[in-house]
Amino acid sequence: MLSVVGIGPGSLDLLTERARARISSADIIMGNERYIELIKAIIPTSAELIIGKMGTEVERAKKAVELGNRKNVVIVSGGDPGIYGMAGLTLEVSGDSDIDVELVPGITAASAAAALLGAPLSNDFAVVSLSDLLVPWPEIEKRLEGLAMMGIAVAIYNPKSKSRTTQLERAHEIFMQFRDGETIVGIVKNAERVGYYSEITTLDDLPDFYHQIDMSTTIIIGCSGTKNIGGRMVTRRGYERKYNYDLGETDSHERGDSVAAGARVWEQSKAIVADIVSKYPLSEHERRVAGRVVFANADPSFMDLIVFKHNPIEKGIQCIQDGQTIITDIEMVKAGISKRYRGNVKCFVNNPKTMEIAVKEDLTRTAAGFRIAKELIRNNIVVIGNAPSTCLELSALIKEGIKPALIIATPVGFVNAAESKEDMLSTGIPCIVIRGPRGGTPSAVAITNAIIELSFVEEK
Ligand code: SAH
Repeated sequence: MLSVVGIGPGSLDLLTERARARISSADIIMGNERYIELIKAIIPTSAELIIGKMGTEVERAKKAVELGNRKNVVIVSGGDPGIYGMAGLTLEVSGDSDIDVELVPGITAASAAAALLGAPLSNDFAVVSLSDLLVPWPEIEKRLEGLAMMGIAVAIYNPKSKSRTTQLERAHEIFMQFRDGETIVGIVKNAERVGYYSEITTLDDLPDFYHQIDMSTTIIIGCSGTKNIGGRMVTRRGYERKYNYDLGETDSHERGDSVAAGARVWEQSKAIVADIVSKYPLSEHERRVAGRVVFANADPSFMDLIVFKHNPIEKGIQCIQDGQTIITDIEMVKAGISKRYRGNVKCFVNNPKTMEIAVKEDLTRTAAGFRIAKELIRNNIVVIGNAPSTCLELSALIKEGIKPALIIATPVGFVNAAESKEDMLSTGIPCIVIRGPRGGTPSAVAITNAIIELSFVEEK
């Protein structure tokens, strides 16, 4: 009897009972060193081990078929033997012989990785291997193009090895051609094994993690329905189209959650803020925006610091309704911006060229990010929540004639923050700032989201 047994991703408690039973009654166990090592604890002492190296699979399968006529032979295969494993080859080699080949399925890497990331494969998905040892590379590229175009989640096996490093870069290029850079991507290395590592990132930022990726890594490229929900990668299946429920998609941290207790706190906060802002001689829109800053910081003194110049809110609403881009100084500001508009937000601080420019021109990274964004800044919205140096760079760009449509500037700090914001107020461009050294990401995000909210309300 010959059994081809899937042993799952690694941890023994993810082995099926059937796999365990076949292993414990085996006379001979064959497999490569890594898999044998993983199941060492449950190998019966009476079993003979035949350890094979990568590349000797055909010989091993032939030998297994031959021995299987007389003994209980088990070929162990990582994950599921039918998925890039030993099942197919064993059946091919056994051909017309009488031997009874049994296939015992296992938990494949994609399932194990998916569970560790969240639920990225909840809708249609595909699996592709980047190994060109057995399939010619041009053929793999064709498959990648087709899959990238299809817009379904894709689990990538064999992304990279010591000798194969360029395939992943090429695959990334292909996905970038057809999918949004913001697409969520999950990386899982050594799922259910020693050395486990995982990361949820975006297609744009995947190259930042190449150094983590190896032979024991599975990458899952999400699709447009894939979201980062509370740090978990989830591909929405469509329930949200049929039923009304809150998946954390709204900015619940700002609006209060939908359960009654949360709603009560939210209502009370709103009343307190309304009372505070009513004492200031501001327009209705200005009160809404300033109120959000007071709320975000739980600090009424921001009412004395916020300045609106040249009808900035109306300009902002117009820009948002036209779908214009928002450029932020740091990722944290971008991350805080309402999900309904975040697709239109760009941040260049982690752009591969930023570091080079920063070093060469003696700039901060955020300022270098703005230099890269130069052309995009023209007539779009700029939100600076952190770095005064970015305001200085923006001043220089404005002098060159690169004028944004609206500036929201709340950088924070003892050095240059206050001065840099005064500079913004004197540009003649519609502008909202928090005067003095205070401000920061919460204020920048509060102002921006208040304007986004007004834009959507006004549109209806
Ligand atoms: N038959 C196996 C796949 C063999 S191909 C299965 O069904 O899982 C080998 C590839 O699988 C690796 O390059 C890697 O991409 C993936 N893989 C296997 N085990 C893994 C693990 N524990 N964690 C992450 N990826 C894994």
